Amino acid sequence: MKRLILATRNANKVTELRAILEAAGLDVELVGADAYPEIPDVKETGVTFAENALLKAHALARATGFPAVADDSGLCVDVLNGAPGIFSARWAGRHGNDKANLDLLLAQLSDIAEEHRGAHFACAAALALPDGTERVVEGRLEGTLRHEPAGGGGFGYDPVLQPLGESRTCAELTAEEKNAISHRGKAFRGLVPVVRELLG
Ligand code: IMP
Repeated sequence: MKRLILATRNANKVTELRAILEAAGLDVELVGADAYPEIPDVKETGVTFAENALLKAHALARATGFPAVADDSGLCVDVLNGAPGIFSARWAGRHGNDKANLDLLLAQLSDIAEEHRGAHFACAAALALPDGTERVVEGRLEGTLRHEPAGGGGFGYDPVLQPLGESRTCAELTAEEKNAISHRGKAFRGLVPVVRELLG
């Protein structure tokens, strides 16, 4: 069985990609970056989701000698010309302060009318081989931004993003419902033919 490393310490992401690879019948052993605690995290110095995903995938593939997958994601708001984008996790200044990020975004958009509140989650998933071969797949979840947060599930900007055709926010969907339509789910499912081509 071929080993594939996923550049994350988030067990949910490993479970999600593993289920997708298994459902596709791929004979791949997926392990998270936790299996290599001695390898340091890579600085996300790219200016696009794809660049950051590639940086992480290449670094892990080089360091482990195994093929590696990495993803990078964020929220892109139409009226903000795609921001917060790659700055999504640190929009309010401190990395990973979800509530501060959400509050700041809602304040910035407080005067923006319904018809101009379009936004999408974007995800780039990269696969890199130790020899430098690389592929990137992108996925999007289109929606509109609520004025107030709703729902207790999910993370990040989930309580304000209402997917197109939905009456609930992402934070009101079950994990299965969200994975089925999410930017990350789409990018991960898009990796299936790539994994088959390069590792199959
Ligand atoms: P990353 O960890 O560098 O990929 O940054 C992702 C950031 O984008 C998170 O901290 C969230 O703020 C935001 N984000 C990405 N995907 C989602 C999602 O599915 N729901 C809510 N927020 C997300």
